[in-house]
Amino acid sequence: MTRRAFVAGNWKMNGLRAARGELEAMLAGAAGGDVEVLICPPATLIAEFSAATAEQAIGIGGQDCHAAASGAHTGDISAGMLADAGATAVILGHSERRADHGESDAEVRGKVDAAWAAGLIAIVCVGETEAERDAGRAEDVVATQLTGSVPGGADAGRLVVAYEPVWAIGTGRTPSTADIAAMHAHIRNRLRAMIGAEAEGVRLLYGGSVKPGNAAEIFALDDVDGGLIGGASLKATDFLAIVAATA
Ligand code: PEP
Repeated sequence: MTRRAFVAGNWKMNGLRAARGELEAMLAGAAGGDVEVLICPPATLIAEFSAATAEQAIGIGGQDCHAAASGAHTGDISAGMLADAGATAVILGHSERRADHGESDAEVRGKVDAAWAAGLIAIVCVGETEAERDAGRAEDVVATQLTGSVPGGADAGRLVVAYEPVWAIGTGRTPSTADIAAMHAHIRNRLRAMIGAEAEGVRLLYGGSVKPGNAAEIFALDDVDGGLIGGASLKATDFLAIVAATA
């Protein structure tokens, strides 16, 4: 099955309003390719960036949402608020949120349901720590995260899965291409067991130290449909080179 390539940039807690220039440079360079491109800036920039990218080749997403639609949750943002600000997708269960905020699989699952209720694509992150990989448990850990974090009724139009080994995020280290391919095949198989034929259409992204120099060989692997990019998504030249590597 043909799956449209997808590259998402996760700006994390980086970017002031002046970063709009970088977004505009990305917009100027992103037009034309057959790849879905998303930038997930800090929440403070979502409305402005959504307005700036309307009807253009880059979508805007959030980095997290609350599982509830509204209520007494100081500092949190609901999926409906993201959608109202112009977001079309949201990253959920990123390892930094799992580590910094103790997010469990069950909480991530609740957030995915909320994202879908608001009409957002959910980009669900899974990935093992280095200790788990060294112990030979990487595939089990990822299978458990998938089963726990992805609600029943998932479909390819609103679910994207990002495999992000924790030890590869921001470190300049990546798994071997054989290990990435094996994990992506494993994730596809788990999804088949969970949602049947719908699994064939779900985009699987690799994330963790993707750079212009390694993107093409990673994106060429079976079952790798694009990437979730952290540090290298902050600079238009690097990000556009990574987007181009999907071709
Ligand atoms: C991430 O945190 O989602 C990520 C992939 O980061 P980096 O590309 O900087 O490793």
